[in-house]
Amino acid sequence: MYNPKSLKAEEFISDEEILDTLEYAEKNKHNMELIEQILEKAAPKKTGRGVECAGLSHREASVLLACDIPEMTEKMYSLAREIKEAFYGNRIVMFAPLYLSNYCVNQCVYCPYHYQNREIPRKKLTQEEIIAEVTALQDMGHKRLAIEAGEDPVNNPIEYILECINTIYSIKHKNGAIRRVNVNIAATTIENYRKLKDAGIGTYILFQETYHKESYEKLHPSGPKHNYDYHTEAMDRAMEGGIDDVGLGVLFGLDMYKYEFAGLLMHAEHLEAVHGVGPHTISVPRVKRASDIDPNVFDNSIDDEIFAKIIACIRIAVPYTGMIISTRENETCRNKVLGLGISQISGGSRTSVGGYAGYSDNERPHDTEQFDVSDQRSLDEVVKWLMDMDYIPSFCTACYREGRTGDRFMSLCKVGQIQNCCHPNALMTLQEYLEDYASPETKAVGEALIAREIHNVTNPKVKEKALANLEAIKNGSRDFRF
Ligand code: SAM
Repeated sequence: MYNPKSLKAEEFISDEEILDTLEYAEKNKHNMELIEQILEKAAPKKTGRGVECAGLSHREASVLLACDIPEMTEKMYSLAREIKEAFYGNRIVMFAPLYLSNYCVNQCVYCPYHYQNREIPRKKLTQEEIIAEVTALQDMGHKRLAIEAGEDPVNNPIEYILECINTIYSIKHKNGAIRRVNVNIAATTIENYRKLKDAGIGTYILFQETYHKESYEKLHPSGPKHNYDYHTEAMDRAMEGGIDDVGLGVLFGLDMYKYEFAGLLMHAEHLEAVHGVGPHTISVPRVKRASDIDPNVFDNSIDDEIFAKIIACIRIAVPYTGMIISTRENETCRNKVLGLGISQISGGSRTSVGGYAGYSDNERPHDTEQFDVSDQRSLDEVVKWLMDMDYIPSFCTACYREGRTGDRFMSLCKVGQIQNCCHPNALMTLQEYLEDYASPETKAVGEALIAREIHNVTNPKVKEKALANLEAIKNGSRDFRF
């Protein structure tokens, strides 16, 4: 029944295979020989083409996740750090969500947008409001957005989403522009995915919420999202529609994390088997308090320790996939997981419809918020915090703009080539940020960081060009990339 190449949800996410996997993992969770073998398989290896990682199957990775021997957990963490360092270095890509509309016809029981929630005022941004929101986001320094909307064919049809994307890309404000729009909207048709592709989107993101079909159907009792197969097969339609970068995710807390973890990796294996390219990103949200939503109702919540272990095991299993963490998590938790494999974080986020324009850094509207934001720091504070820990906040969007998407991105990444251009690109976009948006304290920390990090560009020609570009940015030029 289980077939990663099948296009049927129940065959590539086979419940039977997940249950067998969990049993196998439980049986082997103290099998030191096997665990050592799995860690060895996943370790980065030097090859003629650079550094490569083999990744792990869902079965192997599930054994690691089940293993509760502290000494082995430490080994997993150090391997996750090593893999992250090999492919992502110390760069962290920055983005912000932009909520377009909270109209929704679904009844997701964990989401405040569910149509029966009368507490939440319904709001949809007009194109003028989008200009104001995007201008405010650009004034913070953002270059990459993830747009979010509820599912409502009357209020938020695909034409509305396309119009919003078009408006966002058209706004040129001072030295800024949004250079990549990722899209997190409900599962749709191949035709609509093709329209999104033509509108120039970056990643199409859709969280599975839960891979457990029975729970899924209970958690989505009505509305189009109730259809588990349609939702689970969405990424195949997106890829058929021409979108090569897709982002998976599970909403942790809804069902058992070990089940979700195996399902998530099987989904990644399926995409690789059918389309020749795995997911571009994986997101790891946890259920949060929100209007009409009490997270304690969901009894599968996971603590910070398990959360960190899941992130480390994902990093080991799918070494080339970006991993995203949002402001659902607080500073302490974000700090811990950054080293274990996270490559993208949001900063200065507002999860309400119209939450950016007209509000100062410490003011935020709550009435239309999707969930409580735990990390409420401004983008400038998050950027400085990252740099104080020696991370390079990157506003780079070069790969997507140079057409390095899907397997073209992955094949570069797989031989470690991405680092040859990612590092200087990160530094150049950070320099732009420092020039245009940073506070004096952040700018001072950033200047020192760039001066140190430029020496890690090993190719002398690239280094020379990057140094010239950094100088040009200081003199007013913008938008350089390798
Ligand atoms: N309507 C689209 C869909 O159904 O996929 C877009 C999704 S919504 C704007 C983005 C994500 O927020 C959801 O996929 C869900 O995982 C997450 N979410 C919903 N309620 C949440 C809550 N209470 N806490 C944390 N995340 C939540």
